[in-house]
Amino acid sequence: MRLFAAILVSLFIGCPVAAQGGAANLVIINADVRTLDRDMPKAQALAVRRNRVIFVGSDAEAQELIGEGTQLIDAGGKLVMPGFNDSHVHFMAIGNKFSSLNARELQRPEEFYEQLKFYVRFLPKGRWILGSGASKELIAGLKAEEIERIAPDNPLFIYAANPSEAIANSAARKLSGLADAKDSVTVREIELARIARIVPTDHIRRWAEIAETASNYAASYGITSVQDTDSDARADVYRELAAAGKLKTRVYDCSSLSNWFTKQTPPLREAPEKMVRIGCLKGFHEGDDEWTPRLREQVLAADKAGWQVAVHAIGAKPNSIVLDIFEQAVRANGKRDRRFRIEHAEGILARDLRRLGELGVIASIQPHLFGRGAGYASGYYEDLVVNGASAALGSDAPMTAFDPLLGLNFSGTTGGFSLVDSVRGYTFGAAYAEHTETEKGKLLHGMLADIVILSQNMFATTGLQTSGAVVAMTIVDGKVVYERK
Ligand SMILES: [Zn+2]
Repeated sequence: MRLFAAILVSLFIGCPVAAQGGAANLVIINADVRTLDRDMPKAQALAVRRNRVIFVGSDAEAQELIGEGTQLIDAGGKLVMPGFNDSHVHFMAIGNKFSSLNARELQRPEEFYEQLKFYVRFLPKGRWILGSGASKELIAGLKAEEIERIAPDNPLFIYAANPSEAIANSAARKLSGLADAKDSVTVREIELARIARIVPTDHIRRWAEIAETASNYAASYGITSVQDTDSDARADVYRELAAAGKLKTRVYDCSSLSNWFTKQTPPLREAPEKMVRIGCLKGFHEGDDEWTPRLREQVLAADKAGWQVAVHAIGAKPNSIVLDIFEQAVRANGKRDRRFRIEHAEGILARDLRRLGELGVIASIQPHLFGRGAGYASGYYEDLVVNGASAALGSDAPMTAFDPLLGLNFSGTTGGFSLVDSVRGYTFGAAYAEHTETEKGKLLHGMLADIVILSQNMFATTGLQTSGAVVAMTIVDGKVVYERK
């Protein structure tokens, strides 16, 4: 069954439903839609107008929304669900993974070509592909025309293990005023020096290019939102990228709690549908008692000002202290819908668990990173939820793989998440953790059209079937941003 997307040239002449507000921009039919809503968990079809879901229901009803210019997607029975929302990433670091290509491990030309293709898939046109370590044997087997075919639009400059020689493509040569590669794979001496001179010295700090790379990569995994807990304060970069129409991922950008100044007022929560939002501050506690008074002071002040506060804690003691501080903040600043977060929330003592629920704390967990991926059934995560914490799932990429399918944590046995709860943690639960659950995380009328189509239906098979499940299509803000070729 092949997924196809086609612009339907319409035979449509004013049907009553479409007449109210016009036809849909995008309609998905013949799908196994999982809305993640308890009242209406399944549907066949879905329609989008601009950036919102305007209909979820049957194929027959969806026909009424198809008009001139509607993009019609026949899902071929595939699984359609809300896009993944990774609640803990270091987004620029994910993009920066593509800033250098380590050729040391690549022995055969095919391996090099594969790696190059992988980079080119995600890098914006014009971004340099830099690297080092290419062996003599590898270089001897490379063909210039194959490199040109794979990377026509990205200047390529990769040093050999002996750095008196480097692989360079035509794009790199042209930029430095040299003639085309023709059939030579490498440059030496004067040519090498000319290219080396024009390589951007700020390559690993070209944030717009790096963010675009990360966003392209996210789209390939069906990730439509990320919560950037890196505290590098790059919201402006993301906003510029969004304004240029190049951001394919919604970003909730957290800043550093310790660099926060009391003068700064937090943003209002008026725009949960925006591509880029701020509003959260992230701190740490790693168990050092001396750190506690300062953290307490910062958390109380930031909470009082209205920021959402997230604190990294791993292990019994840090989690206990952070929960103490959260309690003190509630006592000092009064009850409200503040949604404190503990990032990682690993190793909380049984006697501390009930406080999660009492304080309404979000457990921002990364099952894959902590070795408790699919099938893990010790019951720890379930305990968090039973005690009233709201679970938000994420990866902590690039510390670990970005693929959300690896981070789904569920088990058929008692004590583990159910598949639905696990998926919910990576969608609705993650949206709740960033105050956007009225807009994202479910496919219902009025929600943002952030959607993933998976070519393997984990809900329709028994047990864990995520390995090999691949993303067929990713839709963000009503637009198709990724389609598997
Ligand atoms: Zn992290």
